[in-house]
Amino acid sequence: MDLGIRGKRALVCASSKGLGLGCAEALAEAGVDLVMNARGAEVLEVEAARLRSDYGVDVQTVACDVTVTSGQEKLIDAAQGVDILVTNAGGPPPGLWSDWDREDFIKALDANMLTPIALMKALLPGMMDKGWGRVVNITSQSVRAPIAALGLSNAARTGLTGYVAGTSRQVAPFGVNINNLLPGIHDTDRALSLDTGVSAQKGITIDEARAERSQTIPARRYGTRQEFGATCAFLCSQQAGFIVGQNILMDGGATNLTM
Ligand code: NAD
Repeated sequence: MDLGIRGKRALVCASSKGLGLGCAEALAEAGVDLVMNARGAEVLEVEAARLRSDYGVDVQTVACDVTVTSGQEKLIDAAQGVDILVTNAGGPPPGLWSDWDREDFIKALDANMLTPIALMKALLPGMMDKGWGRVVNITSQSVRAPIAALGLSNAARTGLTGYVAGTSRQVAPFGVNINNLLPGIHDTDRALSLDTGVSAQKGITIDEARAERSQTIPARRYGTRQEFGATCAFLCSQQAGFIVGQNILMDGGATNLTM
């Protein structure tokens, strides 16, 4: 399917690996020029060069931490005039409800709520002026059903979701669509680190930990960054113009919900 976005330009945050890279690649495949970002330059440059050569798109790189103000300023500067924004950053650490103090919450809110809000605030006006734009925020299945050990993530991402619910309806009249994409378990470094933790805790191999986790997912496997990226690219397409303020769950059926 031609997504109708060839020649548009996108900022994809935290995109040297994992789900962010999946989104960047699917957009590149659709002919979208990119601003890619990660904290470290090395992998970022390798992936940017691969996307340039495989898809013939223009790719600019900005190595910085997206969750701090100085990093956001660099990204906003590089991304002026983008048509598409995909927000993403690493997730907060796990723990128990009684572990976290004010500073932990501030850090999580900064990374997973206030960072995407700052980027939207800076880049939405340019999209509204042009009468066309797409924003996809990578959040988590924890927005639909809490993951007890990820209280910081549950809290910060739900805050972002509330903000998007209202804001998406305020910018939709200008041809700008904001939606959230909610990953369940996907085959990335994040999943590997979760499985490594379970393997150490239970004294089983990483493969056994993965097989055990896969059994909790109706699809009986982890998602791939390619599937995730393809859904993101569709949400950025012309065809998705009537999808506003939605939370699209990609979890292989793991979250047991009727709606
Ligand atoms: P990942 O660890 O595989 O990739 C993270 C990418 O983000 C890397 O490119 C890294 O360089 C970049 N990054 C991390 N922190 C950054 C920062 N502060 N500034 C700039 N770049 C940064 O992670 P992933 O699995 O792709 O997950 C992406 C997001 O989705 C995370 O917030 C994660 O919590 C969430 N999530 C992932 C899963 C999953 O199963 N993978 C499930 C639910 C939610």
